[in-house]
Amino acid sequence: MSKPFASSTDLEEKRSTLQELAPGVVAYTAEGDPNVGAVIGDDAVLAIDARATPVLAKEWLDELRGITDKPVRYLFLTHYHAVRVLGASAFDAEWVIAHEGTRRWILERGEQDFESETRRFPRLFRDVESIPGLTHPNVAFAHSLRLDLGGREVELHHVGRGHTAGDACVWLPEERILFSGDLVEARAAPYMGDAFIEEWSTATLDRLEALGPKTIVPGRGPAATGEAIPETREYLLTLWDAVRGAHRRGGTLKDVFETARAALEPRFGDWWIFEHCLPFNVARARDEVEGHPPQVWTAEKDAAVWTELQS
Ligand SMILES: [Zn+2]
Repeated sequence: MSKPFASSTDLEEKRSTLQELAPGVVAYTAEGDPNVGAVIGDDAVLAIDARATPVLAKEWLDELRGITDKPVRYLFLTHYHAVRVLGASAFDAEWVIAHEGTRRWILERGEQDFESETRRFPRLFRDVESIPGLTHPNVAFAHSLRLDLGGREVELHHVGRGHTAGDACVWLPEERILFSGDLVEARAAPYMGDAFIEEWSTATLDRLEALGPKTIVPGRGPAATGEAIPETREYLLTLWDAVRGAHRRGGTLKDVFETARAALEPRFGDWWIFEHCLPFNVARARDEVEGHPPQVWTAEKDAAVWTELQS
């Protein structure tokens, strides 16, 4: 029996919760939907990810206005995914900041990703017509960037490729708080369709772990402890090992998929978006085993992979 495409039938609204993790450090988590956050200085606010549409971004900004009236001068994008970036216009930020890989991928595949993501998860794109077009950062960095928000310094780091070619995180060394973007998830399946899996599951997560975070605001799921890093790694490696093994034995993509499902389901089957991610994750892992770079997901490729694997 075929499963409904991706999250096209996930229509139940989630409740977002504002949580002050330390004075002026805010997470807005959403029961497994994409999280956002903010850091408040004496002079300015840094907003972390934008949500999918300006209307949804405005709802979050209204909540934020309950605790600060400082201007949001900086908007930081943890990576290029439409669901994270297309609400950007609501912030009216002077500086829209991202890693160079994110800037490049928005130019290269932002349009296709916009279409793919809205079809995969329409609920997250409420009021999609309020999106004025793609979001392009006006500041891009290669390794690290330090921002002074007034009485508070914030570090932005690219610690390697992982979930995409351009992931970067927000690190607050004093509070030991990490906003990881989708490099780390908490009780949600990591999406690997655009991933560099070998690098993500080794060097990139090693570097995040080496920061020694006390609190992590993951891409999805509730604010977590450092434990979210090994848990995310365990999911990645379980899938990666299963796919490599089945591929070596000469299995078809469907065989590889069933092997991966059997390996993952007992431990991770109840994580958010488990079924949604699985076909795209397996397809990408098979491509990486064969030495291919991440493909550009179009509506047609999405549908073909889903039909082949989830039916
Ligand atoms: Zn993402």
